[in-house]
Amino acid sequence: MNDTANRPNSETEFARACKSIPGGVNSPARAFGAVGGTPPYIQRGDGPYLFDIDGNQYIDFIGSWGPHILGHRHPAVIRAIQLALETGTSFGAPTVAESELAELVVKLVPSVEKVRMVNSGTEATMSAIRLARGFTGRDVIIKFAGCYHGHVDSLLVQAGSGALTLGTPSSPGVPSGCTADTLVLPYNDVAALGTAFEGKGAELAAVILEPVCGNMGCVVPTEEFLQALRQTCTNNGTVLIFDEVMSGFRVALNCAQSRLGVTPDLTTLGKILGGGMPVGAYGGRADIMDAVSPVGSVYQAGTLSGNPVAMASGLATLQQLVKDDPYNKLESLAAQLEDGLLAAAKNANVPVQINRVGSMLTMFFNEQPVTDFATATASDTDRFAKWFHGMLDRGVYLPCSQYEALFVSATHTPELIDETLEAASATLATL
Ligand SMILES: *Cc1c(COP(=O)(O)O)cnc(C)c1O
Repeated sequence: MNDTANRPNSETEFARACKSIPGGVNSPARAFGAVGGTPPYIQRGDGPYLFDIDGNQYIDFIGSWGPHILGHRHPAVIRAIQLALETGTSFGAPTVAESELAELVVKLVPSVEKVRMVNSGTEATMSAIRLARGFTGRDVIIKFAGCYHGHVDSLLVQAGSGALTLGTPSSPGVPSGCTADTLVLPYNDVAALGTAFEGKGAELAAVILEPVCGNMGCVVPTEEFLQALRQTCTNNGTVLIFDEVMSGFRVALNCAQSRLGVTPDLTTLGKILGGGMPVGAYGGRADIMDAVSPVGSVYQAGTLSGNPVAMASGLATLQQLVKDDPYNKLESLAAQLEDGLLAAAKNANVPVQINRVGSMLTMFFNEQPVTDFATATASDTDRFAKWFHGMLDRGVYLPCSQYEALFVSATHTPELIDETLEAASATLATL
C-alpha cells in the first residue's frame, strides 16, 4: 500500500473513535445522525475556515456551535490564553480574572447585577432553575416545546405540538419525578401561557426560554409573547429566566434582552462567553443571586469554575467585541446571506422559510412560516439532508440538522458570502 492509502482519514478515524467512544462523539450533535455520512475530522480552524484531515477546506458557519463570533484563532484571544498558561492552569482559589469577566458581564448584560461562573451552558441552566426554586420556595417550572436548555434532567422534556402538556421525560434515565414539575407550552402562544398561570400562579417558580430560539432552528418571539411573559411573571412572583447561552453576545453585544427590550430576572450564558473554552454563567437580580451559597443557602459549586485559562479566553473575546463592535457588519453579512438564499431557492423552485435575528439564521425547507415547534417540525428533513451534503461537498460547513441555526462570524466577508451563495445555487438546483 502506498503512503496515501495508509494515511488516517475521517472515515478511518470515525471507525476508530466508535470503538472507544459511544457513537464516536462526545456530543451527539456532531455525529451526523440526522443527515447520514461520516463527520469530517477537523485538523484546524482559521478565521472563517475549517480544515479537515482529508485535505478539505470549508467556509465555517458553525463556529463551534456559536462561540467563535470572532472567527477561529483570533490573535487577541490566543494571546490571552497563552499569557494565562504561563501562570498555571488552575488554582482552586480566587483570581482577578474572575472579577474582570464578572464585571464585564454585569456591564454588558442589562439584567445582570451579579453573576456566577460555571463550566457549561447545561450547568448554568441547571443552577438557575435550582436558584429560582430555592428563592421562591416553589417547585413548578415552565419551558417551551423546542427550546433546548442543555441536558438538565428537569428540562429534558419536549412536548408535541399544540396543547399544554405535563412533562414526560424525553430520555430514558430521567425519572418521571424529575419532570413531574415541568410544564411544557408551545412557544409564542400567549393564550397557553395565560391558561398555565390561571389558578396556578402561586406554584410557579420559573419560566425559562430561549428569548431568540436557536435549538428548533431559529424561531423569533413575538412582541406580544415577550410582553405577556414579563407581565405574567411579575404579577405572580415567578422568576423569568432568559437562556441566552446561544443568543448572548450573538444577536447583540448586550444580548437578546437589549435587542428585544425585555429584562428577565435571571440570565444564563455560555458559548461566546468562553470564546471557545468551557465557560457558562448564570446571573441576574442581586437579591436572587445572593440566595446562592456561600451568601445564601442554595448550594452550587465547581472545582474548575472560573478557571483562569477559560476566564482569559472569555475576557479577551468580550473585550474584543466591545472594541470592534462587529454587530452592524454581522447584520449586513447575514442579511446578504438571507437575501441570496431566498433568491436562489426561488430560482430553483424550492419552498423555504428563512428566520434570522442578527447573525443567527435557519433556512427551513418548509412551505409555511415557522413560529414554534409544531411548524418547525413540519419541515422536509430529507431535503435538508441533501442540502447539507451538497453544501459540504461544495466546501460549506453548515449545522448538520434542520433544527439548528447557522452563525456568521466577524471574519466572514461579502466575498465569502457570495462564494457560499454560488454553492447554494448549485446545490438547490439538485434538490
Ligand atoms: C448550547 C445551549 C445550552 C447548553 O450548553 P452546553 O454548554 O452545551 O451545556 C443551553 N441552552 C442553550 C440555549 C444552548 O444553545
